[in-house]
Amino acid sequence: MPAGAHLLIPSINRHRLAGARRCASPHHDARPDAADISLLVIHAISLPPGKFGGARNRDFIDALFCNRLERTAHPYFAQLAGLRVSPHLAIFRDGTVTQYVAFNRRAWHAGESSFDGRAGCNDFSIGIELEGDDVHPFADAQYTSLARVSAAILNAYRNIQPARIVGHADIAPHRKTDPGPYFDWPRFLGELEFPR
Ligand SMILES: [Zn+2]
Repeated sequence: MPAGAHLLIPSINRHRLAGARRCASPHHDARPDAADISLLVIHAISLPPGKFGGARNRDFIDALFCNRLERTAHPYFAQLAGLRVSPHLAIFRDGTVTQYVAFNRRAWHAGESSFDGRAGCNDFSIGIELEGDDVHPFADAQYTSLARVSAAILNAYRNIQPARIVGHADIAPHRKTDPGPYFDWPRFLGELEFPR
């Protein structure tokens, strides 16, 4: 990140990211240990799969996470019936960020998962969805936003060390592939300014 870029890192107040859109999800509950927020999980999603970038696609993602997706809006959505999931944040193709769940609450993004021998990663992680899929590069604006919000998160939650930033596929390798081979980890980690 260039000198001075840290000025662009948003603040986090009362577990909410300043400047983010808000879409309140009912899909969260208490963390078993409220003080343990020590893992950052990167995901990817597109709705319907492979379609992204439009206002309609963003609305579908908001609707899924906020439990108001119309099952009849697309044939694919029938198989999402009853799915109750949520990340803390999503970053859309234009770099805009939406917060669904406050960081101190347990969001439901990781599912059956394990990190460093510890199961149930939702308990102690923050989840960020990137709008996209396994077969297209992510947008420049998404890397910029992701670096900024991740810097804010690492600054606010000091137990998330750089080695504790992972993809969903890393913690659920038999079930998940996201954020997929097109997510450029060296680029992301290079743009991320770690707090000192
Ligand atoms: Zn995922």
